[in-house]
Amino acid sequence: MTLQIHTITIGAFNRYLVGDEGWILIDAGIPYTAGRVERTLAWLGVDPREVRLILLTHGHIDHAGSASALQRLTGASVAIHERDRAWVESGYVAVPRMWGRVGQIAGRPIEWIARAMRFPPVQADVVIGDAGLSLESYGIHGRVIHTPGHTRGSVSLLLESGEAFVGDLGGGAHGPGRKPGIPPAGNDRNQILASWERLFREGVTTIYPGHGPLLPASAMRAALDVRI
Ligand SMILES: [Zn+2]
Ligand SMILES: [Zn+2]
Repeated sequence: MTLQIHTITIGAFNRYLVGDEGWILIDAGIPYTAGRVERTLAWLGVDPREVRLILLTHGHIDHAGSASALQRLTGASVAIHERDRAWVESGYVAVPRMWGRVGQIAGRPIEWIARAMRFPPVQADVVIGDAGLSLESYGIHGRVIHTPGHTRGSVSLLLESGEAFVGDLGGGAHGPGRKPGIPPAGNDRNQILASWERLFREGVTTIYPGHGPLLPASAMRAALDVRI
């Protein structure tokens, strides 16, 4: 099978189904939307049991919310970095800190609301460390790289062919006027920039973000060089 990348989008939320010698799903999406993945698999003629891995780019609800349902549907292993693991195993709704003054005003009330929420928890089958993870054994020519900054346990999948699935590390939907940029919220802004530098060094050519359309790495690079 040649490399296939299918984007499954609901509103502003992207999940990616990647097929090579095996199928994997990148991110599980907001809660109670597993049916959309099921329909996409049916449309492609792929048996859900052929999906071998559900890789969570990080532990936020909009990426891990349907992981439990999709684990049941596919029987796939769920992989997450060790630093975001506790959130998904308890269904804890973590709220990233917004940069700047808006965050200082809006951050607290959002945290209070989120504290009362939970999403369906999921047990991690594969716990990713800082050294990352090769996906060769799942039939994918690529590796998971630890790219912290948005959360401590954020990871990206970099395929040998240059495509990178970066979760909320940044992309097309975050900057002003929806120009390429880093997300408006996270754990450590400088760490986000360092993670981008790492991805550029590793040879990323095309970026598949968690929100918004895909974009060439050169566009992101130009946007960040201006900011740095
Ligand atoms: Zn996030
Ligand atoms: Zn997100």
